[in-house]
Amino acid sequence: MAQSSKRYIDGFSCKLAFCLICNRLIDKSIRGRKNTCSSECEKLKLQDIDRKSYANQMSKDPDFAKKQSAKQYGRIKADPEKMEARRIAQNERMQMPNYKESARRSEKKYRSDPDVKKKIAERMRNYRYENIEIIAKVEAKRAEKRSLQREQLKINDPEKFQQLQDNERKENRRRKAEKRFSELQKDMEKMVNKYE
Ligand SMILES: [Zn+2]
Repeated sequence: MAQSSKRYIDGFSCKLAFCLICNRLIDKSIRGRKNTCSSECEKLKLQDIDRKSYANQMSKDPDFAKKQSAKQYGRIKADPEKMEARRIAQNERMQMPNYKESARRSEKKYRSDPDVKKKIAERMRNYRYENIEIIAKVEAKRAEKRSLQREQLKINDPEKFQQLQDNERKENRRRKAEKRFSELQKDMEKMVNKYE
């Protein structure tokens, strides 16, 4: 053991070297030809290299991050075990309030994009069209739940129930007026087209 540390006493390797990360003197008897003083600093150095190469690639291609994560997701999706591990990890993350909140926010932002909105609406239309029975079941269940809630509200909080009814009447009137208006508009268009 003592023999190996003597290798660095003279010659080229006795030149002092300082850690790339923390600038401390590197103990060459332990670190050999490495340019970092410890495994912690080496880890930081590698992270730094990764970060720089990532920044470099992002500056060349703004979609680099998107492409990378799509690639990664493709690899996970191809492997059921990885997919399951991902699902579990995701569920665990969702237990953290901060993560949940930020996930909800980014989801909201994503869904507010007009192109995405259009795509989602189209997918939903197709889904409704192709799954009429499922949709009917879901809607029946929802209606049942709603009427149960109404009954409970009627008993437990008559004032709030009254308010609910008022709002519903208002909403119905608004919807009817809207319908009348759009019919009127169609009639007008027809008339205009006739006289052109
Ligand atoms: Zn260091």
